[in-house]
Amino acid sequence: MEGKYKSLSIFDFQKMFPDDESCYKYLVDMKWKDGFKCTKCGHTKFCAGNSPHSRQCTKCRAIESATSDTLFHKLKFPILKAFYIVYYVSTSKKGISSTEISRKLELRQKTCWLFRQKVMKSMESSKKFPMTMQVEVDETYVGGKDETAIGRNEGKKKIVVVAIEKQGKGVSRMYGRVIEKADKKNLHSFMKDHISQEAKVRTDKWSGYKGLEKEFPNLEQEKSEEKGKNFKEMHRCIMMFKAWLKGIHHSVDHLQAYINEYTYRFNRHGMKEGIFENLMRRMVDGKPYPYKLIIS
Ligand SMILES: [Zn+2]
Repeated sequence: MEGKYKSLSIFDFQKMFPDDESCYKYLVDMKWKDGFKCTKCGHTKFCAGNSPHSRQCTKCRAIESATSDTLFHKLKFPILKAFYIVYYVSTSKKGISSTEISRKLELRQKTCWLFRQKVMKSMESSKKFPMTMQVEVDETYVGGKDETAIGRNEGKKKIVVVAIEKQGKGVSRMYGRVIEKADKKNLHSFMKDHISQEAKVRTDKWSGYKGLEKEFPNLEQEKSEEKGKNFKEMHRCIMMFKAWLKGIHHSVDHLQAYINEYTYRFNRHGMKEGIFENLMRRMVDGKPYPYKLIIS
């Protein structure tokens, strides 16, 4: 959130995407950039399908549209508006609510909310770039009125485990995951996904981290001072995330999706590829995310 990333201006965006046609063209180019390959049988020859931009496998006759098998799958509103949503989400520094999108694009709020969930799905960490340097891990409560309750697994509030990678005086990356319980199993699973074994890991004295030195030989447990004085950056990162959450989403029902969105943006300062292009690629590479899964 602190640094800058390359972003497309609204003028450039509108020039690139004046209509639905240009959006489909963009999707086709991205989806089949390495050539066509039938998702049903793997055959690489095709002819035009029954609708514009769709392709039909010449062997098994399966038809694939530009949006099928992507996060745009079964889109119920104009593709140009969907592109606008991806654009708004990718370029608004602090995020944009579905209510605001709904106003801008004259779509139902529910429609925007649902599609926005798909965009957030594409922001999920690939887990391909574990943190390697100085890392800190801590848990926090999100939601509920009282955030100072003692004990780490009670109440309606959700527990989130957070990892940050420090760089000089700043923080270069951040990941988070909603967990049922702050026990060794959950903490380990999260750390395994996002932290490399060589990293220098610092945590507080919480028992859930005990015994993880086998997996993380450079793990150090240190008693947390009052108000997290000795975990200042972590403290700050968590405060900023909570402030953002309050301002944009007002709810913790889909907390993991919000964490994905926040950390995706946070981790992209200094990225060379434009953030819109990156998100588009993730939308095209992403698997369909049907309504049933979103609300479950
Ligand atoms: Zn085929």
